[in-house]
Amino acid sequence: MTGSTRAPAPGDPRWSTRAPAADIGFGAYVHIPFCASKCDYCAFATFTDRSHLESRYLRALRTEIESASHPPASAVFVGGGTPSHVNPHELVHALDAIVRRSDAEFTIECNPDDVTADLLDVYRTIGVNRVSIGMQSASPHVLAALGRTHSPDAVARAVEAVRRVGLTTFNLDVIYGGVGESIDDWVATVQQVVALGAPHVSAYGLTVEAGTALADDSSRHPDDDDQADKYDAVDDLLTAAGYVNYEISNWAKPGHECRLNAVYWSGGNYAGFGCAAHAHRDGRRSWNVRTPDRYIELVEAGRSVESSFEVLDVGTRSLERLQLQLRTRDGVPVSALDALDVEEMGELVQRIDASADASATSSDASGARLVLTRAGRLLANEVSLRLRG
Ligand code: SF4
Repeated sequence: MTGSTRAPAPGDPRWSTRAPAADIGFGAYVHIPFCASKCDYCAFATFTDRSHLESRYLRALRTEIESASHPPASAVFVGGGTPSHVNPHELVHALDAIVRRSDAEFTIECNPDDVTADLLDVYRTIGVNRVSIGMQSASPHVLAALGRTHSPDAVARAVEAVRRVGLTTFNLDVIYGGVGESIDDWVATVQQVVALGAPHVSAYGLTVEAGTALADDSSRHPDDDDQADKYDAVDDLLTAAGYVNYEISNWAKPGHECRLNAVYWSGGNYAGFGCAAHAHRDGRRSWNVRTPDRYIELVEAGRSVESSFEVLDVGTRSLERLQLQLRTRDGVPVSALDALDVEEMGELVQRIDASADASATSSDASGARLVLTRAGRLLANEVSLRLRG
């Protein structure tokens, strides 16, 4: 056990008597579309055959960032792809143009093999204060089945480098449900996460995305019951170690929750830079062209990289926000679900009364909230279908 603060148990009023914070700030997402190899399950816009474009891409990225006007970001997330795959000096030169608050959370996603103290020192020159490391599993055979090329030892070395340079927070990403992964393999992975002292953990069930190598091989598709058992296991182990589940797939030690997540899940505003990046401003959602080739071409020609956009009406926006909030420990206002539906769903949701929490703010006092139980977290999509925007 590495945590000193025990997470509240489901049903404990500390889970959720508060509405999501009103001031969640502005987010910025930056997409780096290059990887050394393609994982079997990955449907992200990322490429393994365009290394020759990396420098031009990063110059184009700086140009896009410099020409955009946005409020200072309270959270910046550089993902992909594999940001740690590209030249770190060129990367920080591109990212330095992002306007951010002095207290901004600034995260770069890294492959374990790439993380060294030297690399992190370069990132730190522009204020990077958090890394997200793609651990995925502690079992070599599970990593191989997922198409990952790093070894489990690389994760421990990466965490050591993170500590050596003095970063006080980091995330480990893990995936459950790969072919050949036993429940013991998964438990060992989570135990290793705890032993490494990760302040934040994202644990996702493997999903089959159209167009991936995994989709073409049904013999390797994950099993729902197996994934449910593994979800229970990760939640039990992390809760016992002092983590709080603050969104279905995310656990954190108190104070280490990801700020960009908060922006996304509250329907907040964020900018998106790079190919395939999405942005949202007050109901206008837009996304950039998908390939780095096209992106570079447009930036170099002085043209917009936006591929398309949609304007969400008030009802759609409200419903989407509720769908996202339902997945969090804050849950949704009681009015978001019909009372009969709540009764019918039985143990999937629990009602938390504001009066049960002395720290509730005045806005909380206006109503109780409905929060998913652990059983409900496994069936969140079904609950979501009944939300009223
Ligand atoms: S490293 Fe990440 S982004 Fe790259 S192919 Fe694998 S899952 Fe996709």
